[in-house]
Amino acid sequence: MTTENNQFEFKAEVKQLLNILVHSLYTNRDIFLRELISNASDALDKLKFESNRGTEYPDKDLPLEISIKIDKEANQIIVSDTGIGMTKEDLINHIGTIAKSGSAEFLQQLAKDKDSANNIIGKFGVGFYSVFMVAKEVTIRTKSFKAEENAIEWVSDGLGSYTLNELEELRKRGTEIVISLNDESKDFAEKYRLENIIKTHSNFITFPIKLEGEQVNKVTALWREPKSSITKEQYKDFYNFLSYDSEEPLETIHSSVDAPIQFNSLMFIPAKTYDLFGFNRDDYGLDLYVRRVLIQHKNKDLLPEFLAFVKGVVDSEDLPLNISRETLQEDLIFSKISQSVTNQVFSALQKMADKDSEKYQSFWKEHGRVFKLGYGDYTNRDKYSKLLRFNSSYNDDEKGLLSLEEYIEKAKENQKEIYYAFGASRAAINMDPHLEIFKSKGIGLLYLYDPVDEFVMSSLRNFNDYEFKSVDQVDLKKLEEFETVTEKKNIVDDLSKDDELHLSSLLSNIKEILGDKVTEVRASTRLTDSPACLINPDDSMSSTMQKIMNLSNKDNSIPKRAMEINKDHKLIRNLLHVFKSDTQDPFIKKVVDQLYDSSLLLEGYLNDPHSLVQNINSMLEESSGWYVSLKKK
Ligand code: ADP
Ligand code: MG
Repeated sequence: MTTENNQFEFKAEVKQLLNILVHSLYTNRDIFLRELISNASDALDKLKFESNRGTEYPDKDLPLEISIKIDKEANQIIVSDTGIGMTKEDLINHIGTIAKSGSAEFLQQLAKDKDSANNIIGKFGVGFYSVFMVAKEVTIRTKSFKAEENAIEWVSDGLGSYTLNELEELRKRGTEIVISLNDESKDFAEKYRLENIIKTHSNFITFPIKLEGEQVNKVTALWREPKSSITKEQYKDFYNFLSYDSEEPLETIHSSVDAPIQFNSLMFIPAKTYDLFGFNRDDYGLDLYVRRVLIQHKNKDLLPEFLAFVKGVVDSEDLPLNISRETLQEDLIFSKISQSVTNQVFSALQKMADKDSEKYQSFWKEHGRVFKLGYGDYTNRDKYSKLLRFNSSYNDDEKGLLSLEEYIEKAKENQKEIYYAFGASRAAINMDPHLEIFKSKGIGLLYLYDPVDEFVMSSLRNFNDYEFKSVDQVDLKKLEEFETVTEKKNIVDDLSKDDELHLSSLLSNIKEILGDKVTEVRASTRLTDSPACLINPDDSMSSTMQKIMNLSNKDNSIPKRAMEINKDHKLIRNLLHVFKSDTQDPFIKKVVDQLYDSSLLLEGYLNDPHSLVQNINSMLEESSGWYVSLKKK
């Protein structure tokens, strides 16, 4: 029957995947059929695609369908299709390896944590190898649509290797997969069981699925049906089919557009993000149909990448059936559809934000991180900005969210800027000395915790004519104009004329001590609680942005900044006292170095904590000495 007997080893990652699948929980085994049917459907789609392009292929009379048969005696299930088939090379390259990008990483994660494997396996298209959850041996017999190719038989027990043999007898185009069930999976050889699985997972496959000769699936293109005739349950089923999610979608966006271009779209926003490890990067995009024919699975150009969480299908009346995937992007009709679909998502989100802010908050919690990446999209900037949310000083805690419009509503009269502070947490930001003047003036701030937020601020630059300003870049003169709303905590006497002069020479002295490390030393109007802080020159990047740039340039140099001194702070007053009696007192240098290092530390710039700790220790040693001698007296 065969001409040769070639044994091949599986690639290492395939063995790994097999190992995980075989140990997968009982509840996941159902999905093997979903995977085989989805491959069969892909193979049929590919054939249709070739046919539309005018490619010649054999067995034109074969109906395009998927057939499933049960052989109870032999404990076998046979899944066959009349699709594109596979050549010997296809079998080696597509079945012998895991070509999908990110799979290796996926496997590493799963190998580390088997429990999570059990929880998420059903949500991913694990592919052909899932068949080994139920099989002790699998035989693939396949004949490519390329007329000159021979039929091939592939056999494996899913352990370490497979054999490939050419079949001498002529076969018709397509693929047949014979599954010999393992002992724990014999109960799958039941019609009702398979019918249930098909109805649950494969009901919306666009080719007939015949189980023992009877069609089980509906073969309706739900997206082409009028909205009014579709039940919530049908939407959910279709969403579950598309996404492998088992929950309800957060939002369903269904529309039928007639002019200027005719198309139907049915999109969903999942309630949860399933990209648990960030490895599933390529698994996004909308399925593109032309008059019910699938042109491309997971097309990545219909929606911008920052809307990648959207699942769905788009079906066009106007694109030519034989359009090539390569030229899609340049097609004028395609780009109009893409614009229109993108607008549909934006308006659905805006509507959600306006009508149901709780729902929108849960959207933001799940998908906000991805959505924010749209800061570079100039065409949709206004719609995008209105949908942004931030934590802010106006919220009670770290969980609260504020829109930019809400910020502006709450802003002070005459305030023309939107202020923001960046930090690791709300608590950390609250300790930032730069915030002191905002607190004392009662000016609101956005709190940014995600490095992407900095890019959002610096690309948008403004919102409704309000400029974004980082707290360390703010023009103090503008803030000083606002009335102080808090009581000053440490009421100190104003400096005498004479002391003002001493202060000014102390400031020059501090500049001398710090030398090139700072551009200038000046008295501060922004500080209330802290003795000193570092300030960015007005035209420079914010310090967070600088840090991000430094990280990406592997540069850990400290940018030069101005130092501001709080002349009403007890420490500075004491320092002035020392300075007045002896301008050369070594205590001054010690304190100044320490103030500089502490400010750097707060800014997250301190590269060498050792000298800071040494300095603190030596000062503690001295002050404890003074304390002891005071006690003795
Ligand atoms: P995926 O479907 O995500 O590519 P699979 O592991 O399910 O991953 O399948 C691997 C590849 O094997 C497919 O991409 C396809 O090239 C090939 N293949 C699997 N089943 C069939 C089939 N029934 N007909 C033709 N090709 C198939
Ligand atoms: Mg597949």
